[in-house]
Amino acid sequence: MKMFRQAKWDEPTIFELSRPGRVGYTLPKPIEDVDVEIPEKLRRKSPLNLPELSEPEVVKHYTRLSEMNYGVDSGIYPLGSCTMKYNPKINEEIASHPGVAYVHPYQDERTVQGALKIMWELEQWLKEITGMDRFTLQPAAGANGEFTGVSIIRAYHLDRGDTQRTEMLVPDSAHGTNPASAAMAGFKVIEIPSNENGTVDLEALENAVSERTAGLMLTNPNTLGIFEDEILEIAKIVHKAGGLLYYDGANLNAVLGKIRPGDMGFDIVHLNLHKTFSTPHGGGGPGSGPVGVKDFLKDYLPVPLVNYDEENDRYYLDYNVPKSIGKVKELYGNFAVIVRALTYLKIMGRDGLKEVSEVAVLNANYLTQKLKGTRGYELPGKELRKHETVFSAEPMKKETGVTAMDVAKRLLDFGLHAPTVYFPLIVHEALMIEPTETVSKEELDAYVEALKRISEEAYSNPETVKGAPYNTAVKRVDDVLAAKKPVITWRMYMELKERGEIDY
Ligand SMILES: *Cc1c(COP(=O)(O)O)cnc(C)c1O
Repeated sequence: MKMFRQAKWDEPTIFELSRPGRVGYTLPKPIEDVDVEIPEKLRRKSPLNLPELSEPEVVKHYTRLSEMNYGVDSGIYPLGSCTMKYNPKINEEIASHPGVAYVHPYQDERTVQGALKIMWELEQWLKEITGMDRFTLQPAAGANGEFTGVSIIRAYHLDRGDTQRTEMLVPDSAHGTNPASAAMAGFKVIEIPSNENGTVDLEALENAVSERTAGLMLTNPNTLGIFEDEILEIAKIVHKAGGLLYYDGANLNAVLGKIRPGDMGFDIVHLNLHKTFSTPHGGGGPGSGPVGVKDFLKDYLPVPLVNYDEENDRYYLDYNVPKSIGKVKELYGNFAVIVRALTYLKIMGRDGLKEVSEVAVLNANYLTQKLKGTRGYELPGKELRKHETVFSAEPMKKETGVTAMDVAKRLLDFGLHAPTVYFPLIVHEALMIEPTETVSKEELDAYVEALKRISEEAYSNPETVKGAPYNTAVKRVDDVLAAKKPVITWRMYMELKERGEIDY
């Protein structure tokens, strides 16, 4: 008799489970008196090779596979710099409403007034939350929003004949997408070092700005979870040099309803609806990275914008944006994500959003204080954190050989998702934890408990930690191989195995 077991990576595939003649679905009979002539060259030459299974077999197979995964619905998912929080199910209910799910992007404007209203309303919320004057909802992700934002910066300077502004300043604590987006838009990236508090070094910034400065990209709180309290001074320095200030608002969780980028001196901001506003993400999307600008930049936004004609009570798409940088994504952005975000905002309301940031910050600091002082983990920079916290496992590595990666792998054995490791780059052996507001005190306690136990193991029996994980479906994967030679389908696996190119 088989014992209960967790699904393993070599579970049979759906093709291997196939048995001739089993059926899980009945196709409707063709309508007899309709004679559809499919051109000969379009007809299939041989039957489609589909696996044959009954409905319950299909359901069991995919449920088993889904149990090999760990998601936001499984438990704490504390990836720093990438808000992974619970997605309320009401978002899905609204997004799958036929009136929302079945509209077509090319429908006549008069027939999609509701969809346009949803986009327009979301923009009003985002303006209020950020202190910006106009938004595009087009970008499909944070990085796409950054590219949009820095392209606007470029267009703005060029439009003024200011052609020598070729440098984009980016602090060394920045999310990796910031320098990448700036470089993609043609800028030379100038790195600004952090000081011992973990914030922007003002003197270094003063020295870096010049008539070549196009702008500064900043996230506040930064990726250490530390608030840049000299932001007004930073804004002054950049503006005085003729540059623009770009706010990476991917992690707005920390400051929702408390402070606004628009009031801190920022000219452009992107938000990540798929982080802050609780729409699903992971696996590459679809996401949404709306970009907001101050009034003087609104003529550069991508087309079309959604406008409201009050007199005729009519919403319409506006392509008349004189200096537009063009389009950054087809159509109007990921509409279903936009719908989910607006659902979340309406349900939370103004007070609810404030509470979100209060609890997100409380949770990060609770965890920081409970873990602080545990042997092997060090707390770099200022102690007060915002939405996320970063520890360094460097002392542990020096004293026991156990690395941040080992700690992360060992956490999996306790049924917990690992934090971000080795980021930000300025912290050695970084463990970057963002609990978010959607976990309970009990979950935080369990997380700290596991990290403390791993510390004890590291000092008493380091080999245990270094050999982890023991309880998961897959052991340590080869990250480099997985990135360079991804095997993402069963067929790829079989072909590579046949050619002897993989040995697992
Ligand atoms: C996640 C994140 C990004 C990138 O957003 P994507 O949607 O993944 O492209 C940029 N900056 C910060 C601070 C982030 O956390």
